[in-house]
Amino acid sequence: MAIVSVKCPYCGSTKIVKFGKQPNGAQRYACRNEECSRSIFQLDYKYHACEPGVKFRVLEMAINGFRSA
Ligand SMILES: [Zn+2]
Repeated sequence: MAIVSVKCPYCGSTKIVKFGKQPNGAQRYACRNEECSRSIFQLDYKYHACEPGVKFRVLEMAINGFRSA
């Protein structure tokens, strides 16, 4: 098990280990703090941050393609 430099979003513990991946490829982590209520979590804010931009670009391309057609 590799210890990575992330914090648990629920208890703030840095005792975090990688814990496999979600079906969509997102990394899952396990909190090693025994007092933590959520032992397994996913740091998915990067995935959500880029998602609107991608959607906007796709929409823009669709509009431009529609106008030029
Ligand atoms: Zn925790």
